[in-house]
Amino acid sequence: MKGIVEKIIQWNADTKTILIRPERKVTFIPGQFMMVSLIINGKLESRAFSLCNTPDKELLEITFRVIEQGKLSPVLFNLKEGDEMIIAGPYGNFRLNFNDKNAVLIAGGTGIAPLMSMIRYNKHHGWPIKMILFYSARKPANFLYMEEIKGYAMDNKLTFIPISQDPNEVPEGFITGRIKKEMISSYVPGLNSHFYLCGSPMMIKEIELELKDMGVEKASVRTDKW
Ligand SMILES: Cc1cc2nc3c(=O)[nH]c(=O)nc-3n(C[C@H](O)[C@H](O)[C@H](O)COP(=O)(O)OP(=O)(O)OC[C@H]3O[C@@H](n4cnc5c(N)ncnc54)[C@H](O)[C@@H]3O)c2cc1C
Repeated sequence: MKGIVEKIIQWNADTKTILIRPERKVTFIPGQFMMVSLIINGKLESRAFSLCNTPDKELLEITFRVIEQGKLSPVLFNLKEGDEMIIAGPYGNFRLNFNDKNAVLIAGGTGIAPLMSMIRYNKHHGWPIKMILFYSARKPANFLYMEEIKGYAMDNKLTFIPISQDPNEVPEGFITGRIKKEMISSYVPGLNSHFYLCGSPMMIKEIELELKDMGVEKASVRTDKW
């Protein structure tokens, strides 16, 4: 179906959020993605983008970093309000389990995108799931949705651990370093949580090994990587 760009938010030099008005309402589970297609050099190109909004919202929200040498993301980055795209979905098995009591969310960079949908869904339902968010990015300026996330943390609705990967830039309230089992277990009280990991394939692989070492069952870990 057709999607129309309704609003654009530019976070920094290479990252934007686009709010898209779909022709029909899209029903999905937080964590899932849409396929976005654009005609580029006469050819239809499609890429996956996670939804950041909650399913009750009319507008779909995607957040992405432009890959300079990429085919689709630079064109998507240059779209203007009113421009059209083709969207299909939702797709994906990376989904929030609504019955969770405890959930540990771990994001690297734009991997925050599907986790925002999970956090907002939890808020929409009165915070039934106790959530801990580990959010790692290369440097403080790269963190997205900070005002919103910090707001939830200040209201004690979410435990938030921002992790700067630049040891020379660690603002107050941030920590630095790789996400290792010692770091995870110092914030996560027990193993009775579901873990939702989203980030680069390398980061996810590293953290999966840490969780395995901690004794977390494979069935309790859900991942999305790109
Ligand atoms: C399930 C799923 C959900 C996704 N959700 C999001 C999302 O919410 N936000 C988002 O920004 N992206 C997301 N992606 C990635 C997105 O689909 C595209 O792959 C990305 O935008 C690059 O597309 P492109 O056409 O610009 O690059 P391509 O033309 O596909 O790639 C060009 C070159 O860039 C390299 N490359 C591709 N991706 C990266 C990268 N991340 N870092 C460094 N080099 C890269 C490729 O190896 C290739 O050599 C998701 C992917 C999947 C599979």
